[in-house]
Amino acid sequence: MSSKAPRCGLTFSRMKTVRVAVVGAGVIGFSTAVRIAEALPICSVTLLAEKFSPDTTSDVAAGIVLAQEFPDIPLERQRRWFKDGFDHFFAIAHSEDAPEAGIMMCSGCQIFREAPANMKPYWSDIVIGYRPMTDRELKRFPNHKFGQAFTTLKCECSSYLPWLEKRFRKAGGRVEQRRVNSLQELSNDFDIIVNCTGLGSKTLVGDDQVQPIRGQVLKMDAPWLKHFIRDVDGMTYIYPGIHSVTIGGTRQVEDMRLHVDEGDSRSILERCSRLEPSLRKAKVLYQSVGLRPGRRSPRVERELVQMGGRQVPVVHNYGHGGWGVSFSWGTSLDALGLVRQCLQEIPLQAKL
Ligand SMILES: Cc1cc2nc3c(=O)[nH]c(=O)nc-3n(C[C@H](O)[C@H](O)[C@H](O)COP(=O)(O)OP(=O)(O)OC[C@H]3O[C@@H](n4cnc5c(N)ncnc54)[C@H](O)[C@@H]3O)c2cc1C
Repeated sequence: MSSKAPRCGLTFSRMKTVRVAVVGAGVIGFSTAVRIAEALPICSVTLLAEKFSPDTTSDVAAGIVLAQEFPDIPLERQRRWFKDGFDHFFAIAHSEDAPEAGIMMCSGCQIFREAPANMKPYWSDIVIGYRPMTDRELKRFPNHKFGQAFTTLKCECSSYLPWLEKRFRKAGGRVEQRRVNSLQELSNDFDIIVNCTGLGSKTLVGDDQVQPIRGQVLKMDAPWLKHFIRDVDGMTYIYPGIHSVTIGGTRQVEDMRLHVDEGDSRSILERCSRLEPSLRKAKVLYQSVGLRPGRRSPRVERELVQMGGRQVPVVHNYGHGGWGVSFSWGTSLDALGLVRQCLQEIPLQAKL
């Protein structure tokens, strides 16, 4: 052991346990916390958050597992993220945990008003049975010229988050309800901080790239609907789930209103009923609103932050916009890799 006092608390604490704080209890925070607690027994992991299920944005997510292209992330990395998540949800959907975790297989289509330039997106060989829709299938959507039919998964976060929390606690994780006003607050009690605060990162780490994108959904009692339909404009979708059918939606940038807007409800019902007329006969069970953590691309990286007399390693995993459920398991594996790097590198830094 060095006779000097360590600049980074990790040199001492690593001999016992490395104290890791994961901030955020949405799908990103819990996925990341589970990954770390299960893979790194040397770490004692505490998840801290202001809000827990059922009060997070993740609880509002429609939860369909689909991909979009993020402009600043190499396609191969996005592919890995998506495949990792798909395989994870697929395995749960075919295990005895499926109903408790709220995960199911889901077949349907994405429809386009104009045929896209790229007919074979990078995720097309990860989902199951991807194929262009036939003219016969497209006939019922007269305003759409092209469609992709495939089978994917649906993850209902109001079940999945409690399931992840149980898994996290089983791996020795601890949970604390608390608002964190600055990462500095955590620097005395933790060796590594993992930031999974979604929209909260705008203020917590001052990231101006993060912006709220308001989304409103209706939960419908329509058990006869079994296939999903998504208009790729991203505004109109119908996703049958385990207990109800989620229909949406809205994408209102910088709109922070968390209450249900009746005008939005009417517009959603009208747009979705044009695609699936039987929805006009369905009962609305309830409605919800969430603020997506919008960002050009998710931020999954680490940095050393000066806090008091030492540099504290911070791993970021936030900014997943409208696809946080789909990419949660994949980006949390990268976050785990970054925590591993912190474990390896920080003792070296302390020796300098
Ligand atoms: C209407 C709608 C439909 C959607 N549909 C889909 C879909 O079909 N498929 C899909 O993949 N994604 C979908 N999404 C997107 C998805 O919901 C988000 O990308 C995802 O929930 C982001 O997860 P998160 O954990 O980063 O954020 P959140 O769920 O918002 O969790 C953030 C956590 O951080 C905590 N926190 C923040 N700041 C602080 C602080 N200062 N101190 C302590 N705690 C803090 C919060 O309390 C919370 O626990 C949808 C979103 C909406 C709104």
